[in-house]
Amino acid sequence: YKDSESIVDASNRLILRDLSNPAALHLPEGDIREGIEGCIGNTPLIKIKSLSEATGCEILAKAEFLNGAGNSPKDRVALNIIKVAEEEGLLTPHSGDMIYEGTVGSTGISLAAICRARGYLAHICMPNDQATEKSDLLLKLGAEVERVRPAPIVDQNQFVNMARNRAAEHTSDPNRPGRGIFADQFETEANWEAHFNGTGPEIFRQTAGSLDAFVIGAGTGGTISGVARFLKPRLPELKVVLADPPGSGLYNKVKFGVMFDPKEREGTRRRHQVDTVVEGIGINRLTNNFEVGRALIDDAVRVTDDQAIAMARWLVEKDGIFIGSSSAVNCVAATKIAQQLGPGHRVVTILCDSGARHLSKFWARARPIGGEDELSLADILD
Ligand code: PMP
Repeated sequence: YKDSESIVDASNRLILRDLSNPAALHLPEGDIREGIEGCIGNTPLIKIKSLSEATGCEILAKAEFLNGAGNSPKDRVALNIIKVAEEEGLLTPHSGDMIYEGTVGSTGISLAAICRARGYLAHICMPNDQATEKSDLLLKLGAEVERVRPAPIVDQNQFVNMARNRAAEHTSDPNRPGRGIFADQFETEANWEAHFNGTGPEIFRQTAGSLDAFVIGAGTGGTISGVARFLKPRLPELKVVLADPPGSGLYNKVKFGVMFDPKEREGTRRRHQVDTVVEGIGINRLTNNFEVGRALIDDAVRVTDDQAIAMARWLVEKDGIFIGSSSAVNCVAATKIAQQLGPGHRVVTILCDSGARHLSKFWARARPIGGEDELSLADILD
């Protein structure tokens, strides 16, 4: 047993691993990542077995929560925003320059982690109706965190406007050390381009170009736009479908070409948005990032909170997959599209983040796992 080591597996069985044959370890040779940035991208595409069996389609989910810096697709975006700003001479690594961003959490967490690795500071403006797990995490990463009023109340103190104002204050103050920039994920081209250059090509390669639908919600719209712009010219038959939560106007925009009028619908908008437990997707204005891909979106599906919560529970019970709210919305919509397409098709969606970030809000609404009430997919989708 000279060239072997003994390890204990999950069932407490002692097994011997042959170390004289490194190929048996299933790791690519030389697989060493260059810092935390080297752990971003190339995420697995997981076949969700329960949903695939139930629909007769292959339902594949790109596990973006396995991005290794901030554990969401926003790692790709944050890294690209910083790299572009460095190329433009707006930021200098290890200078202590400050990056300001308005975010419901994920982008802030990715920025905060990458800022640490590259020697920047992060100032994050986040609505105070989002799960506290995300603001706690930001503080532990050493970001400055300002919790501002809920996302749908749009004025100068809204989270995005606040971050833009803070960056401007920094820039105009001669006594502030370093430079300040506004990351601007909702409008910057660096957002959708990160998905055009990463997420889209990875899906194309992982499926060998064989997929019938791509289904996903939109917050900034960066993911749906970047992936659609990469895939559509290569797969003209591909259906790109938006999944939209309660209170969002994007569904209407895709289906009927109209948006909620923010002034006219202020009361309704506020009530609906604040009531949803889904975070990170759904919006009532057209961002630049949504606009660059909108013409490529074929259809839209509305998903309720109850459907998303039941789906999240289903995925734990049947597959051991523990996801957050926007991922659950994506999976409900992907399953509905699979049913529409009929057996034998392939649908790809995205798992954005882990349920661990949503314990106090989204998951607090879920009934206990393994309870008496048997879940049926028909109930989830109705
Ligand atoms: N899921 C989560 C958890 C998010 O935070 C976001 C972005 N705010 C999204 C999905 C939506 O992605 P995008 O901004 O690319 O539309």
